[in-house]
Amino acid sequence: MYPAFIGLGANLGQPREQLVYAVQAMASLPDTRLTHVSRLYGSPPIGPQDQPDYVNAVARLETALTPHRLLAELQAIENDAGRVRERHWGPRTLDLDLLLYADDEIRTVNLTVPHPEMVHRAFVIVPLLDIASDAVLPNGAKAASLQAATPGPDLLVLAESGWWQT
Ligand code: ATP
Ligand code: CA
Ligand code: CA
Repeated sequence: MYPAFIGLGANLGQPREQLVYAVQAMASLPDTRLTHVSRLYGSPPIGPQDQPDYVNAVARLETALTPHRLLAELQAIENDAGRVRERHWGPRTLDLDLLLYADDEIRTVNLTVPHPEMVHRAFVIVPLLDIASDAVLPNGAKAASLQAATPGPDLLVLAESGWWQT
């Protein structure tokens, strides 16, 4: 079993309900265990600004699935939540990004790990630190030392841990 961190986001439909759905769906994946879920956050959109604010969280899994198989399972969960692909960085009902997978560095056409933008995004790094305060990237950088570990005023805590348990 390998540890994997997943970034969750949504800004259409009922974002919080879709994140609850995603956490429960990830917990049900084959050969996979859900071990931690961060607090729930709110953040303004990146890219096009004419879309609603996002709801974000990070989850930790332990899985025997390969990174590519895990990505395929995450994309199936996105599709089950009704995701339709439109503009890049456009609004979506559910976005699941594979942030970290063990200490792996992966660069293939459809999968890059660590997720290349994660280090710049407070809405990823802050929830990651909720559940892994000692998280280290494969290049040795400590997540807690990144600039994105210090949230600006735009990042809101919407709910404490346990929000996904209904
Ligand atoms: P960003 O990647 O900047 O957060 P996004 O989440 O909006 O943007 P998507 O449209 O969801 O981007 O994904 C585009 C493609 O990114 C996917 O089809 C997938 O193959 C690829 N991809 C590459 N690396 C990853 C990763 N680590 N996690 C999820 N998708 C990835
Ligand atoms: Ca994303
Ligand atoms: Ca994505």
